[in-house]
Amino acid sequence: MKLFSTNAFVIYMKKLNEADLLLSYITEDYGKITCFANNARKSKKRFLGKLEPAMLTNIKFYEKPGMTLDILYETDIIEDYKNVRKDIDIYLFLAKITDIARVLCQERDNNKNIFYLIKAIYKSLDCIDAKAFPSNFSMSEALLKYEIYFISNLLKYTGIFPNFLTCVACSEKNTGNRFYFSLKNGGVICKSCANLRDNAGIKNLPVNFINLSNLMIVSDLSIINKLVAEEALLRECSVFLEDFLSFHAGKKPQSIGSL
Ligand SMILES: [Zn+2]
Repeated sequence: MKLFSTNAFVIYMKKLNEADLLLSYITEDYGKITCFANNARKSKKRFLGKLEPAMLTNIKFYEKPGMTLDILYETDIIEDYKNVRKDIDIYLFLAKITDIARVLCQERDNNKNIFYLIKAIYKSLDCIDAKAFPSNFSMSEALLKYEIYFISNLLKYTGIFPNFLTCVACSEKNTGNRFYFSLKNGGVICKSCANLRDNAGIKNLPVNFINLSNLMIVSDLSIINKLVAEEALLRECSVFLEDFLSFHAGKKPQSIGSL
């Protein structure tokens, strides 16, 4: 039996019966993996208290011939982001982003950047400091910035970041960011091409959305502390991204809409 070992974050857990669990992880070395954890709810030494979200763990797993799922052998805690689990707003936010990662990432499609993105967000939220923000700190505003940062970068790493530069139908340049957005085509569309089509899935982009998401994908997470933007605008941008994700994924990730 060959044991594989990697650092990982739990992104999904389901109880299968009294004792067994199904777990999905974003790992540092293997992308998203889904494991069967035999007797996990009873095996204190190997698993107890080590399967929580917002915990960086090292997991050991193996493949079993004839099974599509990997088998989780044991896990150890490397870093525990305890504060994240104490704040209900942050905790719900993390449930939302891990669910988005679960829907968007393919099994075994390894991209270390997604692992590091999640790690950076956990670390940052674990010691979120109201004083680091410009003024009138609002947690909901901060979490919107984290969400836009997370989704924009995840879209980049999964290769589905929208085309904002040229019309998806005629390739005209989107000078001055004045085009509409076509959900169906995953990019901007000029006014004359939009008029030739039915309007389903054609939307106005929130003001400054293109600049904001372009800024997010070229900056590290500290941009969140520096960025000044109205909460209403941030909310519009996050709604737009969620619509785009839902359309792309073909279904709404469970947690979108619940916040
Ligand atoms: Zn066009």
